Amino acid sequence: MNRVRASAPQLAGLVPYDPKYLPARAFLSANENPRDVDAEVRELISRRIASVPLNRYPDPLANGLRDMIAEANGLDRSCVLLGNGGDELLFDLALAWGGPGRTCLNFPPTFSVYAANARLTNTAVVDIARREDFSIDEEATFERLAVGDIDYVVVASPNNPTGLRAPQDFLERLLDATDALVMVDEAYFEFSRSTVRPLLATHENLVILRTFSKAFSLAGVRLGYILANPGVINEFLKVRQPYSVDAVSQAVGEVVYEHRARFEPGIREIIEERGRVMEALRTTVGVRPYPSDSNWILFNMEDAGAAWASLYENGVLVRDFSATPLLEGCLRVTIGTPEQNDEFIRLLRAFVAERGQKRAQAARA
Ligand SMILES: *Cc1c(COP(=O)(O)O)cnc(C)c1O
Repeated sequence: MNRVRASAPQLAGLVPYDPKYLPARAFLSANENPRDVDAEVRELISRRIASVPLNRYPDPLANGLRDMIAEANGLDRSCVLLGNGGDELLFDLALAWGGPGRTCLNFPPTFSVYAANARLTNTAVVDIARREDFSIDEEATFERLAVGDIDYVVVASPNNPTGLRAPQDFLERLLDATDALVMVDEAYFEFSRSTVRPLLATHENLVILRTFSKAFSLAGVRLGYILANPGVINEFLKVRQPYSVDAVSQAVGEVVYEHRARFEPGIREIIEERGRVMEALRTTVGVRPYPSDSNWILFNMEDAGAAWASLYENGVLVRDFSATPLLEGCLRVTIGTPEQNDEFIRLLRAFVAERGQKRAQAARA
């Protein structure tokens, strides 16, 4: 047959995920760590990989890595599950707790993957829009939860792309108010230095998502994990792809996790640089940065689309949200190396100055 019937109806109108990667000198668009793993760790990785049997299926549960993560978090192995990036585990969440006739609660503007996964699995999405300052509307949240039909909730903390983490006391009240599964996405917790992990002891309905892609410089490897009570992990086990975490990724992850202390200076540098970039944005005319607990800063400005293009023409790629609902006029810059940050600030100020001059000329004419 030289034609094909239509794909599943929930795919109609969907656009495949596009990270909006473009060639640039400075990639400040995807919240990656600007520094790759250091040479010594890379050498250890090479040696470890050299002894990985490539003809054998990997350990489906990545138990070596699982045990290391469990121990570091004071948990049993049965409370940890690795995935092919955090993204796989987010999809597994929608498969296991969503589906036709089921409903999830979402707090836009937030990570777009949550709503996309709900749609793919025919899960209804109830949106509670964030307030003007991007904080969660707690009253509306508890009111909606009281209806009793929400099956799972996803809260990014810190919230990508807006920047701040959710207040600890709100997360605790949320977990107390519902028996829905609550995923707290802590993809950036190494930068926010804040976790709800202690609440696992008292909340069967909590699942925490983490990733190796940001603080640990492994976005290219695809490793993420969840922490939850064994009953919750068991439901994820039912839907996951058995061999999603390949043997090479497991080996890389083990070496990096063993040496995770070596990433601390880099993390500290990013946190310091975040303060410096924030101050520079605050003192740039017409630019309004939002506070951040993470490794990026969202900021609002006039002519944001033109500013994005000007930065890009000069080799600096930031993320353009200027046409995204609830984020109109916003760009997001990932904190890079000090040199990259300097260049970003210089170029943004040059754009603002040039625009100011053009306006003054136009006013005189
Ligand atoms: C980056 C990110 C993740 C996970 O990314 P992976 O690379 O798939 O591990 C999860 N949630 C948020 C909010 C993120 O920004």
